[in-house]
Amino acid sequence: MKPSIYGLEKAALEAWFIENGEKKFRANQVWEWLYHKRVIEFSEMTNLPKELINKLTEEFIIDPLNQVVVQESKDGTVKYLFQLPDKHMIETVLMRQEYGMSVCVTTQVGCNIGCTFCASGLLKKSRDLTAGEIVAQILSVQRYFDQQGNGDRVSHIVVMGIGEPFDNYDNLMTFLHVVNDGTGLAIGARHITVSTSGLAHKIKEFAENGLQVNLAISLHAPNNEVRTSIMRINRNFPLEKLMLAVDYYLEQTNRRITFEYIMLSHVNDREEHAEQLAALLKDKKKLTYVNLIPYNKVSEHDQYSRSSKADVLAFYNILKKHGVNAVIRKEFGTDIDAACGQLRSKQIKKDKVTS
Ligand code: SAH
Ligand code: SF4
Repeated sequence: MKPSIYGLEKAALEAWFIENGEKKFRANQVWEWLYHKRVIEFSEMTNLPKELINKLTEEFIIDPLNQVVVQESKDGTVKYLFQLPDKHMIETVLMRQEYGMSVCVTTQVGCNIGCTFCASGLLKKSRDLTAGEIVAQILSVQRYFDQQGNGDRVSHIVVMGIGEPFDNYDNLMTFLHVVNDGTGLAIGARHITVSTSGLAHKIKEFAENGLQVNLAISLHAPNNEVRTSIMRINRNFPLEKLMLAVDYYLEQTNRRITFEYIMLSHVNDREEHAEQLAALLKDKKKLTYVNLIPYNKVSEHDQYSRSSKADVLAFYNILKKHGVNAVIRKEFGTDIDAACGQLRSKQIKKDKVTS
């Protein structure tokens, strides 16, 4: 299968042209067509010689995504289901925020981390996405804006779709470099957030990457017992190890970390849990904040339900009392299955029934 040209950083694209006996400026022309004019066929690159177009066509595809379903929510959230060249399905979500247009991307087909509350973890990982397939999700949304013609631009990215981004680290990094490139889409690193379930060794590596991209960690529990019961990964990377990696990251980057905390009724939302969480973060209050997230019900995981408003508020107040930065996150697209992996798992079930 031919790779997508979106998987090449600018320097790699230039290297390809030079290796193929072409002039370097051709790489700039192609880059411009890809990220400014956003064409989807090499034949549309009208300032390139015919032979070069043929060579590119032989070697690469541009857009590896085939759009299967688009759902628009009343609040403007748009959810896309895409089919990959090998027929796997992935999803991407656009959220219209006050500060801009934010896109949530998928990094793997399925997820092997297997958190017990998550729809994505229901399906084991079939494969990693290539860097090009991750970049293409951003371009699909950008082209959707281009077609609407009102000048909207993808300004923010959250790597919070299906998959564990740090389990596909190299492709994630290439993706980040492509979308951040100032001569291309130029999406600012500070406008990009990568979320991990807590692969401690990769958090350390990420601390050294030099990009100013934000980091979010799916914490979801204040002690090992609760965390292991909902996140299997806590056996390999228990809180002690995770917090050492967090300390290292904070030391290296001096940038804030977000801790994501899904509020699961009677699982992790008791007052004692809030006290434990405040204790866990007590020496890093300046550089961390906690995002309290409403749980999106997943029908296969019916043992979990959303915490009551009163419980969320009580939890929040305890964190505040201890000086922990916390926000109660607003949710998006509840009428269109916007939780991670939900549209995809629904579609797959439908396919099973109809095929
Ligand atoms: N694998 C990475 C990134 C993708 S999941 C990670 O786990 O961080 C992105 C976020 O969505 C995580 O914080 C995850 O715990 C959360 N999430 C998963 N299922 C959810 C659900 N049903 N409702 C609300 N949040 C969910
Ligand atoms: Fe994977 Fe993240 Fe879902 Fe856990 S929450 S199963 S790590 S996608």
